[in-house]
This record gives sequence, C-alpha cells and structure tokens, in this order.
Amino acid sequence: MVDAVVVGAGPNGLAAAVTLARAGLSVEVVERADTIGGGARTAELTLPGFLHDVCSAVHPMALQSEFFRRFRLEDRIELRLPEVQYGHPLDGGRAGIAYQDLARTAESLGIDGPAFRQLMAPLSGNADQVADFATGALLHVPRHPLSVLRFGLRALEQGTSAWNLRFRDEVAPAMVSGVAAHSIQHMPSLATAAAALSLGAYAHARGWP
Ligand SMILES: Cc1cc2nc3c(=O)[nH]c(=O)nc-3n(C[C@H](O)[C@H](O)[C@H](O)COP(=O)(O)OP(=O)(O)OC[C@H]3O[C@@H](n4cnc5c(N)ncnc54)[C@H](O)[C@@H]3O)c2cc1C
Repeated sequence: MVDAVVVGAGPNGLAAAVTLARAGLSVEVVERADTIGGGARTAELTLPGFLHDVCSAVHPMALQSEFFRRFRLEDRIELRLPEVQYGHPLDGGRAGIAYQDLARTAESLGIDGPAFRQLMAPLSGNADQVADFATGALLHVPRHPLSVLRFGLRALEQGTSAWNLRFRDEVAPAMVSGVAAHSIQHMPSLATAAAALSLGAYAHARGWP
C-alpha cells in the first residue's frame, strides 16, 4: 500500500517523489522507459562505449536550484564543470565565451566588457537570491527586494527594444540573446530576458555543470 504514485522518473518526477518521501509518505514511481532520468539521461545511442546526452547536456540549475542544493545533488553524482560555461559563435570566426570567472569573461569582450560585467555582476554575485526569486511562485512578497529590483530593471532593459543600447559591439549582445533564446519565445520579451539574466548569472556563480 503506497500513499502516493508519481508517474514519470524524469528530473521533475524524481524531485516530486523525494519531496513526498521526505514528508513521510511512501511513494511509488512509475516509469515506462527502461531507465530512469527522462530527458536528463545519458545512453549509448550509437556505438558501444560512446555515451550521449538523450536531451539535456548542460545543467545550469544543477548547482543553483534550492531543491538540488538541499538534496545535495553534487555529493550524490559527479558533476563536471567545464572551463567554458557557454559560447556563442558569430560569422567571421569570432565567438563570445562565458567563463565562470566574470572578470575573465569581461576582459575577453573588449569594448563591451565593462557593460557586460555591470549587467551580470549584481546578479551573479547574488545568484542564490536571484534563483530564490526566479524559481519561486510568480506572486509572492520577495525575500530579497534589492536583488529583485536589480533583476527587474535589467529585465526591463533586456526584454524591450532597449536591449542593444548597452552594447557597442555584437559579441556581448549575441551571448545574452543566445541564452535568452533557450526559452523559445518571441524576443525581446520579459520572459526571454529573465531566462537570459538568470541562467547567465548562474554561469558566473556556481557554473553550468
Ligand atoms: C533536445 C533537448 C535538449 C535539452 N537540453 C537541455 C539542457 O542542456 N539543459 C537543461 O537544463 N535542460 C535541457 N532540456 C530540458 C530538460 O530535458 C527537461 O526540462 C527535463 O527533462 C524535464 O524533466 P521532466 O521530469 O519534467 O520530464 P522528462 O525528463 O521528459 O521525464 C518524463 C518521464 O516520464 C516518463 N513518462 C511519460 N509518460 C509516462 C507514462 N504515461 N507512464 C510512465 N512513464 C511516463 C518518460 O518516459 C520520462 O522518463 C532539453 C530538452 C530537450 C528535448
């Protein structure tokens, strides 16, 4: 006799199951695939010994989400942090490179380095507060109003036609836009800007394992 049944053993189903079990319920997880993990699985999709990401390859939330931090995910599985968190190639062989070190990233961006640093530093320096706000319920009294204000002002900038005013070259805005585009919505918008700013900030905080 179980108290709760969770259908699907992807990251969200497993997180739900952990939450229910920690609340003292006995939980059964039902998964139709042969292995658990859903879109976060790694599998031999081609040749024996060659491991591929079935869907997700990079996990900006793995070190940053409050759930995973409380779950101590990094103590349970081996997470590897690359030297480069993400990159954005442009025509002509140029590329924007986001290192975990924000100062190193800004140095590589030339004329736009200070503007990129000014955009990201208040967010990456308070990434836990940003995550607390960005992953919580939309309507709630924020626990860290200053961080929310900083985030909101930047989202208003990057989510409207003002988004390019900050930069003079094309590499830094391409980096911001590339991360924003992961939310697969019309750009610029507040939602895509919020994705760019939060995920971008996490790259310079705990990193994208
Ligand atoms: C191509 C691709 C690339 C991605 N890249 C990234 C990335 O780099 N970084 C990142 O953070 N995210 C990435 N994502 C998103 C990430 O994979 C998803 O956000 C995440 O997997 C969602 O987790 P979930 O538990 O909600 O669903 P899923 O991971 O889809 O898990 C659902 C599980 O439920 C099972 N299931 C479904 N129906 C039933 C049923 N009726 N009975 C039993 N079992 C059932 C499925 O088999 C599956 O195991 C990517 C997604 C795709 C498609």
